[in-house]
Amino acid sequence: MIIDLKPLLSGQSSRIDFDYEIGLDEEDNPIIPPDDVSFTAPVKVSGYITDNAGYMKLVATAEIEYESHCARCLEDLCGKFVLNFNRIVGLSGTIQDEDNDDFVVVRGGILDIDRSLVEDLLLEFPSRLLCKEECAGLCPRCAKNLNLGPCDCPKKREIDPRLAILQKLLEND
Ligand SMILES: [Zn+2]
Ligand SMILES: [Zn+2]
Repeated sequence: MIIDLKPLLSGQSSRIDFDYEIGLDEEDNPIIPPDDVSFTAPVKVSGYITDNAGYMKLVATAEIEYESHCARCLEDLCGKFVLNFNRIVGLSGTIQDEDNDDFVVVRGGILDIDRSLVEDLLLEFPSRLLCKEECAGLCPRCAKNLNLGPCDCPKKREIDPRLAILQKLLEND
């Protein structure tokens, strides 16, 4: 969304609040989720910009709801990821390095943060989702979901094949 900063720049106001949504399939900037993840609702953006004697600061959060699978037990899961997006607001032409990630740049009195917000959201989105921190995962042998209780697989460690040969020799003796 385009945020009009003219009330701030003209000194009429020292704070602008905003609250809006970014659709998932906006034509110029579709939001592509990572593999095995689907986003289930528009990105909710809210925050404010303050002006403190010419020093402008943006404080925002972006929320995205998702569905996916647990990386350990493969069960379905859903959740909400929240990104904190805080930047210094600079006027175009007054910032030396406009690609610097600490800044968002005002051009012609307006600010459009959606592109960098979505970029950050996808960058920070967890690459490994778990149904719960202590998920026990699947048994590597029988693939039972160990969150539902232990399986019947023998619990002893597999014998090193070299030792197994030795054991056999001893048995034959
Ligand atoms: Zn799990
Ligand atoms: Zn098992």
